[in-house]
Amino acid sequence: MGDCIFCKIANGEIPSATLYEDEEFRVILDLGPASKGHSLILPKKHAANIYELPEETAGKVMILAKKMAGKLTDALNCDGFNIVQNNGEIAGQTVFHFHMHLIPRYEGDGVGLTWKPG
Ligand code: 5GP
Ligand code: ZN
Repeated sequence: MGDCIFCKIANGEIPSATLYEDEEFRVILDLGPASKGHSLILPKKHAANIYELPEETAGKVMILAKKMAGKLTDALNCDGFNIVQNNGEIAGQTVFHFHMHLIPRYEGDGVGLTWKPG
């Protein structure tokens, strides 16, 4: 996917604030965070959305999400956690390379379902 920004970020062509990386995934800080520590799990192999994501990768994404939620909660001492994944423009997807949002939540942070990427 020649001009996919998340392909370039995930594969290290464009530098990013990386929290975790392995052969298949990179976890980065979101550029327009909904809250402190808002991060994104990116598979290195392009899939536009959950429909295109191989099942095996989907399973690994959830395991990584669990791991990162634990680490971020320990590091940031947040009070709760949202894990969100948007598919299609109507659902709020703005970057068409599958990604999972990891959103630490804090008492009184005011983040709601109306949150839109900045
Ligand atoms: P979506 O709306 O597609 O579910 O989420 C896209 C997310 O990617 C948004 O939260 C937005 O802030 C973030 N984002 C868009 N472009 C970049 C970028 O170049 N770098 C990083 N780190 N995040 C980005
Ligand atoms: Zn891509």
